[in-house]
Amino acid sequence: MRFDLVSIFPEFFGVLDLSLMGKAKESGALQIQAHDLRDWTEDRHRTVDDTPYGGGAGMVMRADIWGKALDDVLKPAGRVVLAVPTPSGTPLTQHHVRSLARADQIVVACGRYEGIDQRVMDHYRGVEGVEVFEYSIGDYVLNGGEVAAIVLVEAVARLLDGFMGNPESLTEESFEGDVVEYPAYTRPQVWRGLEVPQVLMGGNHAQIDAWRRSRSLEKTALVRADLINRTNPLTLSTLDREVLTRFGWIARRDSARWEKVRIRRATLNDAVQIAQVAAETFPDACPYYVPVEAQKEHIERWLSVEEITKWLQSPDHRVMVAEIEGRIVAYTLVILYSEGDYPGDVPAEVIAPAPTYLSKVYTLSAWRGTGLSGGILEAAIEDAKPFAKGSQVVLGTAVQNKRARRFYRRHGFETAGRRVFMVGGIRNEDVVMTREL
Ligand code: SAM
Repeated sequence: MRFDLVSIFPEFFGVLDLSLMGKAKESGALQIQAHDLRDWTEDRHRTVDDTPYGGGAGMVMRADIWGKALDDVLKPAGRVVLAVPTPSGTPLTQHHVRSLARADQIVVACGRYEGIDQRVMDHYRGVEGVEVFEYSIGDYVLNGGEVAAIVLVEAVARLLDGFMGNPESLTEESFEGDVVEYPAYTRPQVWRGLEVPQVLMGGNHAQIDAWRRSRSLEKTALVRADLINRTNPLTLSTLDREVLTRFGWIARRDSARWEKVRIRRATLNDAVQIAQVAAETFPDACPYYVPVEAQKEHIERWLSVEEITKWLQSPDHRVMVAEIEGRIVAYTLVILYSEGDYPGDVPAEVIAPAPTYLSKVYTLSAWRGTGLSGGILEAAIEDAKPFAKGSQVVLGTAVQNKRARRFYRRHGFETAGRRVFMVGGIRNEDVVMTREL
């Protein structure tokens, strides 16, 4: 790969002799030649600019000078790219960089003043064997194209074969998979009271990978909405989609379009909507043999607005909701038990004392299979964690409901035993599952 950098300040490129770039130059893997644009001038003052046609502030770089320089420097053989930095260009991304890394020669034409006469780019677009790429390195204005040229050289060079000592570090980086990279930590383990996240100390690589992926998605969701918007939700795993719901992004089951979701603590104003969601979803979790009448009785007695208002007023009950376009579409109820108290018929011997009881996780059917249930489940556990009195999260789910058990197992729950649970006078058997907090 050969770079030719044309500028009125070629000495700018001295920095490319440093570090890995310098080594690659020395080894011959990379050729970088800086050129002084003024070498192609013919007047005494070595003039490269003139006033703009049509008036306006500043000076414009002359097409005739650039034309002579580029005719000499461009060596059309193989794939040749004329890269022109400009704030009005295409925003440079890793995607472009990957493509440019396959070029044979990249010539960077560094503008100054108000930039280069447009006819230069227009002319070389018509020259066979030359690709013109006008690019911007960000939405701000620099004095000249030199810094943008260095950015391009460095981003491209590090993808070239043999450039990096450890090529693996390339594959884990920001933007390689359209997400930004997870945060990194090294020694000391505690610095100014700040600890390295526990999961990274444990040596469980599956857990570490899952944690890193979640952090990547979290950061991408929070700061790079453009990258999420570019990603088709249908190409993401359930786990990825679960994480994204927690940070505001959801898509319907078969849809490629993202929508906004907000998972938050419930307030007293939510009681009526939560009761509606509860009444709509409770029957789906009931075994087939619980008659509709018994379901109704249960809903009226235990899932009424009054009952839900009591949860919302109780310091031991924590309710989370997920809201899409102002409508509640899912809710969770966590009850914090104290030592000696046991939730809804769970036998004391199968669980640890003072459980954090995951009493309810319900999602409207239209939003099942979107990652929302997993997202709100994790949000509910995280919300309750600082207030938990014991070491375990506990839940019960109908013996018949294998799908729910698979879902909870995926979220780290294990079967601990059974309990008997009454719905409108009908005896049900539940599997009790637990997860360490
Ligand atoms: N009048 C130009 C405009 O507003 O688009 C700005 C010209 S700027 C002062 C001078 C040179 O700096 C440009 O020709 C370009 O080479 C370089 N430059 C400035 N900002 C840049 C950016 N964000 N990305 C790439 N190149 C930039």
